[in-house]
Amino acid sequence: MAFNSKRIIVKLGTSTLTGGEGLALDRVFINSLAAQITQLRQENCLAILVSSGAIRAGMGLLGLREKPRTIPEKQAAASVGQGALMALYGDIFANYGIPVGQVLLTRDDLKNRARYVNARNTFEALLAAGALPIVNENDTVATEEIRVGDNDTLAALVASLVDADELILLSDVRGLYDRNPAIHADAHLIEHVAKITPSIRAMAGGAGTSAGTGGMLTKIAAAEIATSSGAGMWIANGRRPHILRECLQKTPGSGTFFAPAAARPSARKRWLAWASGSPRGAVIVNISARRALEEEGRSLLPVGVVGVEGAFSVGELISVADETGDIFARGLTRYASEDVQRIAGASTASLATALGRETIPSHEIIHRDSLALLQGTLTPDRAI
Ligand code: GLU
Repeated sequence: MAFNSKRIIVKLGTSTLTGGEGLALDRVFINSLAAQITQLRQENCLAILVSSGAIRAGMGLLGLREKPRTIPEKQAAASVGQGALMALYGDIFANYGIPVGQVLLTRDDLKNRARYVNARNTFEALLAAGALPIVNENDTVATEEIRVGDNDTLAALVASLVDADELILLSDVRGLYDRNPAIHADAHLIEHVAKITPSIRAMAGGAGTSAGTGGMLTKIAAAEIATSSGAGMWIANGRRPHILRECLQKTPGSGTFFAPAAARPSARKRWLAWASGSPRGAVIVNISARRALEEEGRSLLPVGVVGVEGAFSVGELISVADETGDIFARGLTRYASEDVQRIAGASTASLATALGRETIPSHEIIHRDSLALLQGTLTPDRAI
């Protein structure tokens, strides 16, 4: 079967890589994954790996029994473990004739547009050269402020960066269940999520395993980034043989699939919405404005605005929410928050009066070229 030039991101969590709570990376498992990736390549499907496990592997090598608590200790463990992780991948993939390339990123690398574009070019060059890019957060240098924080989100940002068709989060769970399967024997696997609604978010609960940073909530946040960027996303059990093929062929029971948005936004809008930073505030708009933005691709005009939250300046990233609180877009504002307050609800003709100035900076609060529509609802970092 040919996969028609598909590009996929495969994310491996720490417990998947170690097979549970152990400190050693599972060579047999990584080998089976390498066999799957090699087979897919022969069928015209290119993968990029996002791999956790550095801190855990480092703990083993440094003889630490418990997860380090201080930042320098974590960074030291990551430094030792990352090397070991790459050495193991390099060794295993060499048997399949595939060179591996390490790509360590932090949020800052993605926030800055020039560095973002540069990272994309590096991925393209690695793939063109036949190498397998293996991504992790640059834990050794990343401080809290510049971290992405979890590899589910990082993998989704990479999917958005490189125009991936699918993101496959390999985990120690089979997917998203309607209730916690550890407690409820009759919990059902949700196989298809068309839209991320508050009830989907409620099913994700809040808990993670002790090993990885990512619980279900970070996976749902990742799904929002991936699907809004035009990529489908899977949560699937990494230990199932042939799991990558099962996902790509949409074999029933293979996991939970989050359907991508109908249209893939431009690269700049994807960067704007997800990588450029966190929104500084929000404008609340009425339902006709929401329709004009979502269905007609219009710019956001003051007339449709009914409220403002937070304090922001001209040029900053803000969220756009409707009156129910559903955040459905992000964009760069042409007005500071106090001016949006003054012109909220004003028609274009009365803007200067409402603003109390002779000349107005713009007819739009957010121009359509700087507006990205989102799929789903509130993510943790989409704070307003
Ligand atoms: N970057 C971390 C590591 O390699 C893992 C982060 C995560 O699992 O979300 O150890």
